[in-house]
Amino acid sequence: MAGVRVMPRVLMLGGTTEARGLAARLVGGMGIDVISSLAGRVASPCIPSGQVRIGGFGGSAGLASWIESHGIRALIDATHPFAATISRNAAAATAAAHVPLLALRRPAWVAGEGDRWHEAASLEDAALMLPELGRRHFLTIGRQRISLFADVSEAWFLVRCIDPPEEPAPPRMELLLDRGPFSLAAEIALMRSHRVDTVVTKNSGGEATAAKLAAARVLGLPVVMVQRPSPPEGVREVSDVDRAVEWVDAQIR
Ligand code: NAP
Repeated sequence: MAGVRVMPRVLMLGGTTEARGLAARLVGGMGIDVISSLAGRVASPCIPSGQVRIGGFGGSAGLASWIESHGIRALIDATHPFAATISRNAAAATAAAHVPLLALRRPAWVAGEGDRWHEAASLEDAALMLPELGRRHFLTIGRQRISLFADVSEAWFLVRCIDPPEEPAPPRMELLLDRGPFSLAAEIALMRSHRVDTVVTKNSGGEATAAKLAAARVLGLPVVMVQRPSPPEGVREVSDVDRAVEWVDAQIR
């Protein structure tokens, strides 16, 4: 109908602080119809601005047909850097549906002076490294794949995650359900009170959970840092919300 402006529709694969920040900018400042997609893993997720859908699409083919049937003009993969499957699916689905794709991925953490990092290629490698480094490990890898640490010999774990793990957990552990951001003072107090001697983390990047690394530095503790999986090849990537806004603006003109 003449005179009716159809808002351009963008699909945002989310579940991160950056995704919520970008959704707020696109909905508020640019009048874009943003549909944020969450996997549905967390019981009480932080809800972004705009429309929200929850649950998987059924692989890359399912995502491609969802994109086509919902009139999506552009897709932003703003998922967590360790969410490798959905990122691969996004690359394949946008290629099939001929829709532009941008990855918004926060920068990785980088070791600084005073850090005692041990880089691990995978969570499996991280578990193998622990007996050499200590006995009381602060495991901050989220709740997925906790069972990989069940057989680490003579180990005790302080496990921190948002929701309880569904997998079999290490036999000797304390579970702490909490969501960042965390302060440096609180992280130091937590590590001291639990007599932690090693910190295990994925290299997620971001400010909200970086205080554990500063706390480990202050306390002189080793950190087992699990490296990120490789992102899909050929996907344009930016590391901050401003650049992502510029990209969306260019796509919808
Ligand atoms: P994943 O292993 O890459 O994906 C597994 C499957 O979950 C995908 O194939 C897809 O199912 C579904 N899925 C994942 N993200 C989705 C999304 N945003 N919307 C709809 N379906 C999604 O993912 P993951 O590592 O389990 O992460 C799941 C979600 O948690 C992501 O949104 C991610 O941003 C967030 N998150 C992950 C981590 C982490 O450490 N991995 C940390 C914080 C937040 P179908 O194949 O059926 O489409």
